[in-house]
Amino acid sequence: MATLSFYGAAGTVTGSSSMVETDGKRILIDCGMFQGNKTVSALNENPFPYEPSSVDCMVLTHAHIDHSGLIPKLVKQGFNGPIYTTEATADLLDFMLMDSAAIQESETERNNRRRKRKGKKEIEPAYTKQDAEKALKMLKAREYEDRFEIMPGIQARLWNAGHMLGSSSVDLRITEDGAEHPLRMLFSGDIGPEEKAFHPEPDAPQGYDYLICESTYGDRDRAEYTLEARRAALKKELNDALARGGNVVIPSFAVERSQELLHDIGVLLANGDIPNTTVFLDSPLASKVTRVFMQHTEDMADIDLPAEELFRHPSFRITQTVDESKDINKIRGGAIIISASGMCTAGRIKHHLRNNISRKDTTVLFVGYQAPGTLGSIIRSGTEEVRIHGRHVKVRAQIRSLGNYSAHADQAELLEWIFERCPIPGSIFLNHGEDDARAELKRLIAKRGVDDDKIFLPTLDERFELTAGTPASKGRAATRIAMTQVTRDWQNEHAALLIALGQKLRSTDDLDEKKDLLAKLNEVLEG
Ligand SMILES: [Zn+2]
Repeated sequence: MATLSFYGAAGTVTGSSSMVETDGKRILIDCGMFQGNKTVSALNENPFPYEPSSVDCMVLTHAHIDHSGLIPKLVKQGFNGPIYTTEATADLLDFMLMDSAAIQESETERNNRRRKRKGKKEIEPAYTKQDAEKALKMLKAREYEDRFEIMPGIQARLWNAGHMLGSSSVDLRITEDGAEHPLRMLFSGDIGPEEKAFHPEPDAPQGYDYLICESTYGDRDRAEYTLEARRAALKKELNDALARGGNVVIPSFAVERSQELLHDIGVLLANGDIPNTTVFLDSPLASKVTRVFMQHTEDMADIDLPAEELFRHPSFRITQTVDESKDINKIRGGAIIISASGMCTAGRIKHHLRNNISRKDTTVLFVGYQAPGTLGSIIRSGTEEVRIHGRHVKVRAQIRSLGNYSAHADQAELLEWIFERCPIPGSIFLNHGEDDARAELKRLIAKRGVDDDKIFLPTLDERFELTAGTPASKGRAATRIAMTQVTRDWQNEHAALLIALGQKLRSTDDLDEKKDLLAKLNEVLEG
């Protein structure tokens, strides 16, 4: 009997990783990094819930760090099997895993300086550039739709998932010893929307025993999502923002979203739809990835510029060095600054936010998903003050969001993708979504005639038993963290309380009132 375990992206959208075990073999689908509050991201530092050297091989759906970011750690701790993926994904990983390793190293260094001051023991990075280099050598590129054997009795096929360059859904066909029928499973990976620059619609055949589908937007339908409508919305936001006079700071994912923005802004500039203004792409990773995109233009669809003009408008400044990045600080208004990371958790975007967010004429324009607890989600929630690099910074900028740039299918598109894969005699697992999103998607799937008890919402580390042609049964449900800590952990509450207290104390000039408030708080603490 085969089993399926969910080691990430179960009730959250990060840390994607699932394991199939059959006849003593272990296959991992993705090995992503957790992103979110400190409780969630601590999962990156903790041991894997299985022995890394016991994993025989991996199939990787796409290059995003929340699907690939813990691969070097797995390799460092003993995984030594092949990693099958598309060629474009392998090309992107060359930069993305090295970048991630550099972040691990520099954050650990910063952390260790702090620990040393406090007399605490130094810690090791989750992985180093050397581990990432070793992981990259284990990648094996495969073409979309070609069936290949990953080990005796187990075949795989990759299908275009339309989510980002090289993204795929993973189709496994497992012939178990003595089994009458092969077990057919499809892991959606992240599914793209129908209307997406650069990629055709997601695709895969029908008829699987088990379908594992993402549910990021399971509770949301987007209003305008044609390529033209999206560009028109961007045009309006940029014209409004530039009219305010300040800079436009756009937190953006280095991969795909940055290139979509450069494509759309390039078209708007070429058509004279926005004033000719300097557009910075300030992210070392985004600039390298943009070059990978340039190498793969022949595989791309829906490009509204001649290939030789794509990403190359004369007003674009794609920065490389730290000095070039620092020079942007001198610009007080009229520039568009695209920088990573997309959820403002690391990278140069934090500098640009710190430098611009306190100015009233600045616009911060969100164009991507912000996981709960990240700096991006805190800014977007309308807070008046944030902590960046350990400093309190007032938020006076206009905070705007464009929700229609998603690389994910919305509710209707997810339902369409799921029902195009039917019949599913076994079970449907909804992962990679917050609980509300997947509960709503489950309700709608059931409403369209699928038995409620055939649809599972797996929790972290939950395991299921699979038999071809029949619904899965629950195995064990021991989890590493409580789901109640995912949205807001105690550290989020702590930070919110400190900010609220500071605001309350500053809201009055009456010194006795300030003292009273502190006395009351002390009473509570002592009580
Ligand atoms: Zn993704």
